Amino acid sequence: MKVLVVGSGGREHALAWAISRSDRLTELHAAPGNPGIARLAHCHPVRPEDVAPLAAELRPDLVVVGPEAPLVAGLADELRHRGIAVFGPSAAAAQIEGSKTFAKEVMDAAGVPNARRLAAARPPCVVKLDGLAAGKGVWVCRTREELDAALSEAREPFHLEELLEGPELSVFAIAAGENAVVFPPARDYKRIGDGDTGPNTGGMGTFSPLPDVADDESAEILETVHRPVLRELARRGTPFNGLLYAGLMRTDDGLRVIEFNCRFGDPETQSLLPRLDSDLLPLLAGQLEPLQVAPRAAVTVVLTGGEYPAQGDSGTPIEGVEDAESTGALVFHAGTALHDGRLVTNGGRILNVTGTGDSVAEARTAAYDAASRIHFAGMHYRKDIANG
Ligand code: AMP
Repeated sequence: MKVLVVGSGGREHALAWAISRSDRLTELHAAPGNPGIARLAHCHPVRPEDVAPLAAELRPDLVVVGPEAPLVAGLADELRHRGIAVFGPSAAAAQIEGSKTFAKEVMDAAGVPNARRLAAARPPCVVKLDGLAAGKGVWVCRTREELDAALSEAREPFHLEELLEGPELSVFAIAAGENAVVFPPARDYKRIGDGDTGPNTGGMGTFSPLPDVADDESAEILETVHRPVLRELARRGTPFNGLLYAGLMRTDDGLRVIEFNCRFGDPETQSLLPRLDSDLLPLLAGQLEPLQVAPRAAVTVVLTGGEYPAQGDSGTPIEGVEDAESTGALVFHAGTALHDGRLVTNGGRILNVTGTGDSVAEARTAAYDAASRIHFAGMHYRKDIANG
């Protein structure tokens, strides 16, 4: 199969890595890709609006769309219209991520437990922007001061919902309409600082399996969370084909959905794909078989640059990636570029280092050993990923 991966981050590098291991693969392309992906695929440095014309020229057997923005904007529809097979939902089905109001309507119609909407702005509560916000559209307000600050910062349209408490987990399902297969749960760390301090980010690290949610609990979550939503979307005439990501919280009253995403999570994917023994490519192509997942653990540490999340960095030389890889760890490029053949920073989240092992503790040691071999000015990473 000839495959085109769309995107340029660590998630797309992990997808390209997993696809490149498939026996079915004949040719791998990426648009635009990044220097890490370029070692696995032919990268085409096109603008987002030029991806569909590029695909029309390349005629791949499958396009795998990584990020949410092109999906919400209708890239999958455009490609299907041109007769090209795509892993990724239509714009209509991608509203499950693109509009919190739509997601809530679908969940309520499907009977899937989620946070209640609140009419009055009173702490404790959560203020949420309705549209895509790259992980920055949520204010968790425990005090009046936090709520006032959120209300002055939040741009319309937003809504208020109950503040839920409990451990979070991410559960991914590959869906073809109502048919779906599920990954084991993963956990991500959203705050910039150790001990969950500081501002929210796009994600500072992930791990799987979890100490408090067994891998096989995913099967039940598929039936109680994903399947009813997939049925409801199909009933509305907008079936979902792609990756349905459920962000969940285990509260004292049971599991509640915090959000749905319409694509692989970044950086959870970087910890989940190294656990997968199944060939990913036929699954993405719609041939759904239950996933074969190894008992091995994976821990991913995100290395950031500049003043992330306020501001990223560019042009700073990066050393030690080969040394890190020589340990057996995987180094996924998230925000890098090549300047005169030299690897430099180009973004906020720069590299994702994934260690694997027989236990989470082993995987964690492997990830941190590899991360410690990488250096660039301004590099920051959390030291407590997968600690508990
Ligand atoms: P989201 O962008 O919806 O994933 O939200 C980002 C983060 O905000 C989540 O991972 C949670 O930690 C937190 N969050 C979102 N909604 C709620 C809620 N209703 N109660 C408590 N925390 C929430």
